[in-house]
Amino acid sequence: MMNLETCERCEGSGADPMQALFDDDVVLCVECRGDGVLVAVDVVEERMLLSA
Ligand SMILES: [Zn+2]
Repeated sequence: MMNLETCERCEGSGADPMQALFDDDVVLCVECRGDGVLVAVDVVEERMLLSA
């Protein structure tokens, strides 16, 4: 199961918030690679299946 979660680093904007504001070049967020969302795999369920 896969979920799309809003990237917490850039809050969905896709731009790295740590980039210099005066810079004309837009630095893509390193977390979501500019998508603004993260693909979250449900690893909890997988762990439960493995431990069962
Ligand atoms: Zn991001």
